[in-house]
Formats: sequence, structure tokens, C-alpha cells
Amino acid sequence: MIPTTARPRPVHKFGGVSLTDGAAVRRVGAILAERVPDAPVAVVSAIEGVTSILDSVAQAAVEGRDELGVVRVRHRSLLAQLQLDPEMLNRHFAELATILAAIRARKQLTALERDHVLSFGERASARVVAAHLNDRGLRAVPIDAYDLGLLSDSNHGRAKVLSQSAERIRSALARFDGIPVITGFVAADEHGRLTTLGRNGSDLSAALIGEAIAASEVTFWKEVGGVMTADPKLVPNARLLRSMSYAQAAEMTRHGAGVLHADAVRPLERAGIPGRVACVRQPSDAGTLVTRESGERFARGVACRRGVTIAKLARAIGSGDRRVNAIAALERCGVDALHVEDHGAELLVVAPWSDELGRALLGLGLRVELERDLACVAVIGARSVAELDAALLSGHVDVRARWNAEPSATPVFAVPSEQLARAAQVVHAAVCETQLA
Ligand code: ASP
Ligand code: MG
Repeated sequence: MIPTTARPRPVHKFGGVSLTDGAAVRRVGAILAERVPDAPVAVVSAIEGVTSILDSVAQAAVEGRDELGVVRVRHRSLLAQLQLDPEMLNRHFAELATILAAIRARKQLTALERDHVLSFGERASARVVAAHLNDRGLRAVPIDAYDLGLLSDSNHGRAKVLSQSAERIRSALARFDGIPVITGFVAADEHGRLTTLGRNGSDLSAALIGEAIAASEVTFWKEVGGVMTADPKLVPNARLLRSMSYAQAAEMTRHGAGVLHADAVRPLERAGIPGRVACVRQPSDAGTLVTRESGERFARGVACRRGVTIAKLARAIGSGDRRVNAIAALERCGVDALHVEDHGAELLVVAPWSDELGRALLGLGLRVELERDLACVAVIGARSVAELDAALLSGHVDVRARWNAEPSATPVFAVPSEQLARAAQVVHAAVCETQLA
């Protein structure tokens, strides 16, 4: 039997790409098998692509089409590759079929139904991973996070986890024998209705579960070797960061470094739990360690975000309550409050475009100037903004806007999408590739 409360347990989170096929799930199984003496807790995403498939299956149901088969085939083929019982997910498919039939009948999809449909990705992958571990002779149990006590508000699609979850998770987890394989991304509100934490939310689930049980470490297993100084697809000279502080990791992810969910760092920081980003293909490599320490002496990085719209407002949105409420409404449309800044009489709103955001901007009753198809380049740990300005100027980058994002005054530059790679490369060369004194 695995010891329960005796000593801190590690949490291992596996993303969808690391569960994409039979070989991938076997790699995950091997990583967990090797760590059995540490009493690991696993948290899993849906298998690659499944959440998006489920989303379109739900939309198809609204339009009267039954596309459940796509989801079934994806999982059936994974079960076949792992030589697991092909019928093992039938109960879940039957439940999904019932919801989809209801959606088709009403030609309408509520936010609750959408979350219910999306939840099947993680609920299925947790069962597949646990069954594979059983198959290897390890004791493992799939657990739906809401059965463990992960409680959220009722904001479907973007639910926030409530603090009372921690105590519930801590005591519930102590009751399970073997490796718990917990669903990421999903929770339930106080009425027991399913919610989801927002796309890529499994990292956040893992961090919250880690915080709840005072884990020894939370490892985020990815296909990449760790956190890089920049996205290597944009910046070929990007290099791996061996260690970084919570603050640096939070800044990198907040500004779009896709390696980790932006909110996943906070729970680790609150609890002082080390985080690690490691590569499923090189499990003995240390990856990137995230702790309170300031990390590499010169840990600096460039984070990029695409598909950005900037709205310049003719003047600031009032003051006092009016301002607070208006900003809250914009935040509900996905505007990142950290990018809302006063520029004299102007307010710069940065967000991915949505019709909902368009309506919210219209509702402000102000003249708004929009610039779409932009990308943002944020420089974490920059020494001087003048140096960055000079680098961008000599790289002939047409900077459309620039501001310092709180809380760390990180300089952010909005540039035309097609100039993103060039912009990222020149600032990376200036801050991450120079000989440091
Ligand atoms: N499966 C969810 C998504 O694709 C959550 C996650 O992968 O973290 O967004
Ligand atoms: Mg993911």
C-alpha cells in the first residue's frame, strides 16, 4: 500500500500531447511506474485534440448533426493501441450521447451543457491512463476532480476554483490507495453542476491539487525540454532556462509563453512548492525548476502572444465605481486587466477579438480606435527599455504601441503579426544573447 499522509507526495501533470497515442501513454506509464515509491499523484488532460473535437461535436449537435462517432473512434483507437478493453468507455459514451441528443432536440447549447460535453475528454483520459497503469500491474484509480472536492464558482467555461476545495481534496485523497489519476480542467459548482476552468486549465488543476496536499513538487510533463528563453519556433537561438523564480515564470506565462497555464504559478508560489517543466521524452533530464529563488542569474525571456487586438479609447473610462465595473465587464470578455493602462486620456485595451468584446466596447459609449491582427512581444527581466527600442528600430519593426505591464513593469510591444518573428528575434538578441557583465 502506498503511504498516504506520511510525507509530501509529488504531483505529475501530463498534457494532451503526451497522451496522444499508445506509445505516448506508455511513456507516461513508465514515468509513473518508476516513481511509485514516492506515492505520485497524476493529473491528466484530455488526449490531444479531444477537447476541441468535443467542442465542435457540441456545436454540430446544435445544428442537428450527430458527430459523436469522431470522439468514439479517437478513444477506441487509443484503447486498441494499448490493448485495453474496447468497451471500457461505453458508459461515458452513452452519457455523452444522451446530452448530445438533448442538444439536438432543442437546437440550443447552454454553458452548462458545453462544460458537461467538454468534461468527457479528461474523464476518458483519466480512465485510459489508470487502466494502462493497472495493465502494467500497478494499482491506480481514475478520479473525477469534482468527486475529490474541486469546487468552483458557476462561471461555466471560465470557472474559478474556490478556496474551500483544498481541505476537501486533502482529506479525500488520503482515502485512495494506489496512484490517483485525476481529471484536469474540470470541477463542479456548489450545486454539483460540472464546470471547466478554461482552455489549457489542467496545469491549473495540477497546481491547485499540489497546493491542497502540500506536494513535494509539481512536475508539468510536456513535449518540450522545459521553459525556453523564447518560443524556438520564432527564435531559433532560444535556449533552455534551467531554473527561474515564480515571478519570472508568472511573467513569462502571463505574456503568452504557452509552456504553462498563466494561473498555474500562483498556487505553487503561495504554498512554496517547487514546480518543474520536464520533457516526457527525456524523463531523466531536469528540465526547468521553478522556485522562490531568483533562478539563473540572468534569467531573461521573450514571451509572445498572437491574435491581439488593441483598442485605443478616446478618453479614460470614467472613474470610481463606473471605471471598476467597466473594467470588470471587459475582463469578462477576456481582456487581461494587466494590459489595461491609462495613457493620459486614453486607455489601451488588449485582447483577442470576440463579438462579445465588440459589444462591451460599444457599451462604453466612447470613440474607439481598433487595430487588429497584432502580436505582442513582452520582455521579461529587461534591463533597459531604450535598448529594446533601439533593437526594434534597427530591426525595422513597426511598433504600434508599447506599455509597461504591471505588476513588474514588463515592457510589452505590439507589432504587426507578420513582423512577430523579427521583433522577437531582435529583442531576444539584445537581452538574451549578449555577453553579460
Ligand atoms: N483539455 C483541455 C484543453 O484542451 C484542458 C487542458 O488540456 O489543459 O483545453
Ligand atoms: Mg493542454
